[in-house]
Amino acid sequence: MRVLIVEDEPSLGQQLRSTLENVGYAVDLATDGEDGHFLGANETYDAIVLDLGLPEIDGLTVLDRWRKDGKKTPVLVLTARDSWSDKVAGLDAGADDYLAKPFQTEELIARLRALIRRASGNASSELKAGDIRLDTRSGKVTRAGEPVKLTAQEYKLLSYLMHHKGKVVSRTELIEHIYDQDFDRDSNTIEVFVTRIRKKLGADTITTIRGLGYSLEDPEDRTPQDA
Ligand code: CA
Repeated sequence: MRVLIVEDEPSLGQQLRSTLENVGYAVDLATDGEDGHFLGANETYDAIVLDLGLPEIDGLTVLDRWRKDGKKTPVLVLTARDSWSDKVAGLDAGADDYLAKPFQTEELIARLRALIRRASGNASSELKAGDIRLDTRSGKVTRAGEPVKLTAQEYKLLSYLMHHKGKVVSRTELIEHIYDQDFDRDSNTIEVFVTRIRKKLGADTITTIRGLGYSLEDPEDRTPQDA
């Protein structure tokens, strides 16, 4: 899952970036409204954290432009403390949630997780496919109750496929959602990660759909004639 942070306060921006990276997100950071708008309009994110008070272009205008361009990415706005008018304006401009400054990082993470989960149509924070469980709160993965150790990149890839269980996901889509913009993206590494995940979780975990990409299916969702 990949997140954009648009925050002009340097220490807060850096802190959010490292915190979100530590819990398994690919993160891009923009420090003004112009850069933030550009990234949000041209890159692919699973959620965006948008400060409202920004240099160049203010956060509300940025959000309004994304929405007018048809961008549906979930957006959480950061508002000034006790400013109910900021919250109303943010929600009216198309924000999906808000958080007033100062806030606890844990709350931001929980709200982001919920936004990403809802946007991908998942009701629970524990994702499951057959006997595989991925707990988006702890970042832990188990198969048949046994813990499975994944590297950060393997976890990002598995998490994206589990959020989009049953769908065919192309390599390009995976690359867009597991790497930040500064990463040297090589689509061959995706196949390497998939191979490693299959080794750790079972060969049947991820199906390769020739010419299209990958799919992670829940055996329980298969119709009897497929089984
Ligand atoms: Ca600000």
